Amino acid sequence: MFSKILIANRGEIAVRVIRTARRMGVRTVAVYSDADANALHVAMADEAVHIGPSPVSESYLRGDRIIEAAKATGAEAIHPGYGFLSENPDFVDQVEAAGLVFIGPSAASIRAMGLKDAAKRLMESADVPVVPGYHGEAQDIVVLASKAREIGYPVLIKARAGGGGKGMRRVEHPDDFPDALSGARREAKAAFGDDRVLVEKYVEKPRHIEVQVFGDNFGNAVHLFERDCSAQRRHQKVIEEAPAPGMTAEMRKAMTDAAVKAAKAISYSGAGTIEFIVDTSDGLRPDRFWFMEMNTRLQVEHPVTEMITGVDLVEWQLRVAAGEKLPKSQEEIALSGHAFEARIYAEDPQRDFLPAIGTLHHLSFPIQAPAGSTMRIETGVRQGDAISPYYDPMIAKLVVHAEDRHSALGALATALKNTEIAGSVTNIAFLAALAEDADFAAGDVDTGLIGRKQAALTETPQPDATIVARAGLAASGMHGVSSDDPWASLTGYSHFHPIERQVSLHRGTEELKAGVTAPGNGRYTVRLDGSQSIGLTQADLAGTVTWPGHVAVFAAGIAYTFAVPDPFASAAEAEAGAGSMRAPMPGLVKLVRAAQGDAVKKGQPLLILEAMKMEHTIAAQHDGVIADIASEGAQVTDGTVLVRFVEEAGA
Ligand code: ADP
Ligand code: ADP
Ligand code: MG
Repeated sequence: MFSKILIANRGEIAVRVIRTARRMGVRTVAVYSDADANALHVAMADEAVHIGPSPVSESYLRGDRIIEAAKATGAEAIHPGYGFLSENPDFVDQVEAAGLVFIGPSAASIRAMGLKDAAKRLMESADVPVVPGYHGEAQDIVVLASKAREIGYPVLIKARAGGGGKGMRRVEHPDDFPDALSGARREAKAAFGDDRVLVEKYVEKPRHIEVQVFGDNFGNAVHLFERDCSAQRRHQKVIEEAPAPGMTAEMRKAMTDAAVKAAKAISYSGAGTIEFIVDTSDGLRPDRFWFMEMNTRLQVEHPVTEMITGVDLVEWQLRVAAGEKLPKSQEEIALSGHAFEARIYAEDPQRDFLPAIGTLHHLSFPIQAPAGSTMRIETGVRQGDAISPYYDPMIAKLVVHAEDRHSALGALATALKNTEIAGSVTNIAFLAALAEDADFAAGDVDTGLIGRKQAALTETPQPDATIVARAGLAASGMHGVSSDDPWASLTGYSHFHPIERQVSLHRGTEELKAGVTAPGNGRYTVRLDGSQSIGLTQADLAGTVTWPGHVAVFAAGIAYTFAVPDPFASAAEAEAGAGSMRAPMPGLVKLVRAAQGDAVKKGQPLLILEAMKMEHTIAAQHDGVIADIASEGAQVTDGTVLVRFVEEAGA
């Protein structure tokens, strides 16, 4: 076994790898960028090396610096985690040329599977079923459009270098093909530096079922059952589970056989995943699943497999890379119970899951696993850390295991509702709603489930009067005053009317006013908008969190956040004009579709902002005439005015 390894990654996966390495007595070296100087993975590792500025191209993608760091610290091997350099065969070559071990498959295996088109051609020749489509070399729009017609609409355009659901467009109708193609190409170019695409049949009522495989350097390959990852938004997984609901022995055999065959076809060594797309319009049928791609690395959702098999996949990765045989044979790998993973993201479900950023002023996970379950929390952040625009906005993965699917899903919902995060908008309430959705609970899942029910799943109830009152009390600062404070003695002095402190709470465009008084004895009265009065006590402050300019109240798994504006800071706001539109996050203005003086209609796309590796269309919020619009290529920060409208007379 190695005595020291370097982890070429950050966040939860770096932390995850360090944990197993430590248990095995292997010392660890972390690498970090400027933004991560105080990150958890750095604190946890035995040693840490700074590798550059915050952008990934200058740090976590700098293979040369990472290899230098490994040599300087005496690490013998490099674990790439997922993302970043994990599927980069040139990096593997460089690692090996430096006399180090890459903890993962060979460069040849990664090359064979790295591009979706080539991988599909290879799998066809290995007799693994592949989605019908065009995965040839031609990139001409005329050729691609005619292939799309041959395949039959709807089709899916995919970046051949794709990953993370990026560079993908579903096309319903030939008329939409040109726009979809240029969108997919732009996104692919930005994310992967390669704008070549393939076109394939869009499978109906699709389920994403993948098989975890593992190979060693002695020609052995096994599977560790399947995971269902059909709960997706933006073609990206949000809740994964193992085993797949409704899986039959016949279907499992067909899928795992195909997966092991695929792994053996490339003499695969290490952890890998064969992703299949399954047409479930007629239930799970062994002749209705197709190879989609192979991920030649550890997968984000690997913990659900660990939960049902009891195998530590990172331990296996280290053992296999160190030259050991697979620790278990196929017969020795057994499946027990059911596991779920929910990915908690900084993102706004109500704005189509737009990625978000922020400082996590409050971060609290359940202390205990819900009754009858075991729980794992995988995170790379601590309270006070920031979700920055530089990296993936995942905050944590909540993983639960129980005897059966029903109990595991119940435990997942409970654990989610007991997770409190403030400082960034998150998808927790959405995940909890999904965990309690009747169709999801029935195991009736397909990749369109979230899209069909998006409005209901992302609906946030309006805060009731008590929640607003609690927010008002917490924001007022009245509770913090000690008895020898002159203010406290004044408010508690019964000869006078207790002094009322005014708090202005903003939720979206709505302003709520709360008048807080403290008659004494730890009691408070909150008057809302002049009428309703609500009595509260010190105990009502539990589940409230404040930080500069904000207050949040947690209730039943929902974080109700209010802005508490500084009354002196609103001049700039007013100057920008009521109708102006601001950048929701830092990014690059990619495309501008309107000009000064244009009269635009509500909903009309005005520009495309590329932020956090995605394209966000900024559409007009109302009808109006454009006074000013950002220019193409401009780098903007969070809150920069992108579009200013001509003020209407009298408006
Ligand atoms: P997995 O297949 O392991 O579940 P995904 O399909 O969600 O992972 O994403 C594919 C890869 O892209 C992963 O390696 C993941 O780390 C990476 N990835 C996903 N989202 C982002 C992002 N916003 N920025 C950078 N990398 C990402
Ligand atoms: P990525 O590399 O971004 O993970 P994949 O090829 O694995 O790309 O596809 C991501 C997701 O897109 C799948 O999990 C599935 O939901 C959807 N998808 C991919 N191919 C198809 C298809 N042919 N028909 C329907 N849905 C598909
Ligand atoms: Mg995939």
